[in-house]
Amino acid sequence: MHEMGITESILSVVLEESAKRGGKKVSRVVLEIGELTNIVADSIEFYFELMAKGTAAEGARLEPRLIPLEAECEICKKRRKIENLDFVCVCGGHMKTTQGKELAIVSIEIEGASE
Ligand SMILES: [Zn+2]
Repeated sequence: MHEMGITESILSVVLEESAKRGGKKVSRVVLEIGELTNIVADSIEFYFELMAKGTAAEGARLEPRLIPLEAECEICKKRRKIENLDFVCVCGGHMKTTQGKELAIVSIEIEGASE
């Protein structure tokens, strides 16, 4: 269960951003979560709701976007989705991950902020 620590870091970035805008309420946070991170989006949402209580991020909508695991063959350069962590290409080459490892805050919406 590393979701709790991750949620803590997300919340601290979100609150920092809110503080920069004078502590205004946060309305929406969009996240990108790669499949390879094994992060359970539901857990992040659960912890976020819990930890955000009493802060500027209380009641903010958390929107996780799941990024599927994709890789490219080092030999024939074919790209495909990776299932069951099978990183061997049909040509026998090794597939290198191109996406699916990300964990990023894509956007933070603050109420009444003009951008
Ligand atoms: Zn290949």
